Order: sequence, then C-alpha cells, then structure tokens
Amino acid sequence: VVGVGVGTAGQVNFEAGTVVSGTPNIRDWMNVDLRSALEPIGFPVWVDNDVNVHLLAETRFGVAAGRQHVLMLALGTGVGGAAWEDGRLVRGDWGAACEFGHVCVDYRGPDCNCGSRGCLELYASGTGIARMMRERLAQTGGSTPSPTLDARAVLQQAQAGDPVAAAVVHDMLDALSMACVSLIHAFNPQMIVLGGGVMESGEWLLTGVRERVKTLGMSSLVRPVAIAAAQFGAEAGVVGAALQSFLYEQTLEE
Ligand SMILES: [Zn+2]
Repeated sequence: VVGVGVGTAGQVNFEAGTVVSGTPNIRDWMNVDLRSALEPIGFPVWVDNDVNVHLLAETRFGVAAGRQHVLMLALGTGVGGAAWEDGRLVRGDWGAACEFGHVCVDYRGPDCNCGSRGCLELYASGTGIARMMRERLAQTGGSTPSPTLDARAVLQQAQAGDPVAAAVVHDMLDALSMACVSLIHAFNPQMIVLGGGVMESGEWLLTGVRERVKTLGMSSLVRPVAIAAAQFGAEAGVVGAALQSFLYEQTLEE
C-alpha cells in the first residue's frame, strides 16, 4: 500500500484535501476535511473531484492515453467536467476549475441550482433529460409521464422512434455540442472525452455530438478534435482515485 486516494463529487480543495462544497445531490457534504479524517490510517491521502480522477484514469490507461490536451464531460445525475493541460489537471485558484456543467448554453434559459441560468447541466444531465421530457409531454398534452420517468427511459424511447423523446434528445445533443464547441474555443484540446451514465446509452449519442460539432465554430480549432467515449465506466472513480497515490507519491518525497 502506498497511499489512499479519494474521488468525490463536489468541489474539492486538492491541496488541503477538503471537500469545500458538495452537490445538491449530497447536501451535507460540505467543508469536510477528508484528509484529516483518513490520515489516521497511516498512509498519504489524496482527495480530488470524481471527474478529475476519472480523467486521470483515461489519460493514463484509457481512451486519452498519451494525450496532453484533453477535456472531459461526465453526464450523470449532473454534468461534471475536467481538463488535462500539458499533462496535468487544470485546478484553478483553489481546485474548482472546469465546472463545465455550469457553462451557460442559453442565457435566457431556466434557472439553475448553481445560481446561473441556462446551464449545460439543465439539458445534458440525466435529471435535465427527464425534466425536458416532462415539459414536452405537458406541452403536447399527451400521456401523463410516470413519476419514475428517467433519462434511461427517455433515451430508450428516442431510439425506439418516439417523436417526443427524439425531440428531447435532439435538444440535449444541441446543448451538449454547443458547449463542446465553446470549450474547444477556450481550450484548443486534442480530444473531448464524454462519459457518465447518460453516454452509456451508446454510440448514437456520440455520433450526434460529432456531427453537430464539426458544423459549428472555428474549423481550424474544431476539426482536429477527437470526440470519444470514456473507456472507463463506473470503475473509473476507483482506478483514478487509486492512481493518485502512484502519480503523486513522488511530489510528496520531493
Ligand atoms: Zn448552473
């Protein structure tokens, strides 16, 4: 054993090893000093955001292995982001950089729980997809959606040819592609990795993003970018979190 690595949802101060603020999904996960809590185990402790550690796994062993400029979007309950620049994670001032789920794709859009409006997460997360489906069903006066309607069901219905579900997925792909193009303009990446439960619906979503992205934005920037599915699924957090111990051990010894 060389150390303990943690990948957690929420905003993490990597230097301090603390969870600064959680997500609305885990309300009490805030100002938690995880490093101090875990250090009695007797090994070095590394704490980072879950999407950061996922991207770490992808750049080491996954679809982005060997690449130096990579962005990641994880589409799950919310939308998380991470960026890999010159072989290291982009952290910003205190660790919360790359909240790509809260990049605005419609400044006239609905309020987001982050305090902004029209954020990508409202359209491209599992929660957002289910919300858009409910709204469309209400507008069209069709069948009352089941209270348990979720993104998985919407994606299945869209693939089966349901026109309302297909329209929802169309909007989701438009929002996601627009965000990808803005991020390409900002970061000039080689690759964008799309992961998370929503993307596990299959290659068709990836194709939808690729087709849209290549028609948008500055072609010199957009054309060379590979848009790829994450290689790691649910196990990414474990691989990436553990990987921290091996990658960062040297910095500790310096
Ligand atoms: Zn937001």
